[in-house]
Amino acid sequence: MNNQSITKEILKWYDNNKRILPWRKHLTNRQKEYFTLVSEVMLQQTQVKTVIPFFNNFIKKIPNLKTLAKTRDKKLMKCWEGLGYYSRAKNLKKTAQKIIKEFNGKLPNNIDHLKSLPGIGDYTSSAIMAIVFNEQFIPLDGNVERILKRILYLKTKKEISKDNLQKKKSLFGKSSRPSDYAQSIMEIGALICKPKDPLCHKCPINNICIAYKKNDFNIKSKNKSNKVKYFEAEIYKSKSKYLLVKNTKFNFLKNLLIFPMREINQKKFRSSINKSINIRMSNMDMKITIKNKKRKKYITNSLLLDKNDIKNHILPSFTKKILNSIMRY
Ligand code: SF4
Repeated sequence: MNNQSITKEILKWYDNNKRILPWRKHLTNRQKEYFTLVSEVMLQQTQVKTVIPFFNNFIKKIPNLKTLAKTRDKKLMKCWEGLGYYSRAKNLKKTAQKIIKEFNGKLPNNIDHLKSLPGIGDYTSSAIMAIVFNEQFIPLDGNVERILKRILYLKTKKEISKDNLQKKKSLFGKSSRPSDYAQSIMEIGALICKPKDPLCHKCPINNICIAYKKNDFNIKSKNKSNKVKYFEAEIYKSKSKYLLVKNTKFNFLKNLLIFPMREINQKKFRSSINKSINIRMSNMDMKITIKNKKRKKYITNSLLLDKNDIKNHILPSFTKKILNSIMRY
């Protein structure tokens, strides 16, 4: 199978199997720019299935770049609430402001200019170049990486390095429909070449896949396993109100409301008889023991949140998980 036949087979599969997604609808050029920008930023750390309702709500409330640039932070965070990684929303707004100020309100058709925008890195800039501007780019996301590792049976540290995978993308060749082509490869990764139990019998390029021939689909991940850290969440409750503080402790969820927390050692965590929950963050696995405190001490930057009034506050899912766990007991 040469490059041309690989391209042809992949596009044929895509034309018959692509998912109907809100950012793939028939759109004006301006909408396509904006919808792709928003969806790609949302997809940076979140799966398609989860993103869809958030994307629809976001577009309904903030329908274009101009509105986004002027949207108040409170409304912006409300639209992003539950999606996590809130810095993405803040960067998206800064990006909209920069596009209006420096690029005449139009997404730049240039990879270096795109990379100069807040929160837009190698992957998102390549995705925009391909999807919006129909340029010959294949963004290297987790899906594309997995396909390459399996087709070429790449296992060693050197083979699966980002630089090597960037080079190995040449396997896919060029296409007369770069926008569809980039999306089709990512789509095969998401729907067919899944992390577990790939559906190789449906894969349009299974005849060149070494992993398929060897029946070995294990791929080495470059990701180091997360460090486990132990915390104690202090729950001060007064009638139906809980005390929350503005987060200045962790780099993630900056300025959002969390329960007062302190890091403890593993021994203390183990000896604790309190209930505990596990929360996986991108850089660590948090094991949190929940401790009810009787007296409310004064804590700066804090507020008492009524559990019946939660809807009116922007709470990260991190805090909601702890709250749900407390309310269950
Ligand atoms: S044949 Fe299977 S393992 Fe190989 S690329 Fe296709 S789905 Fe992935």
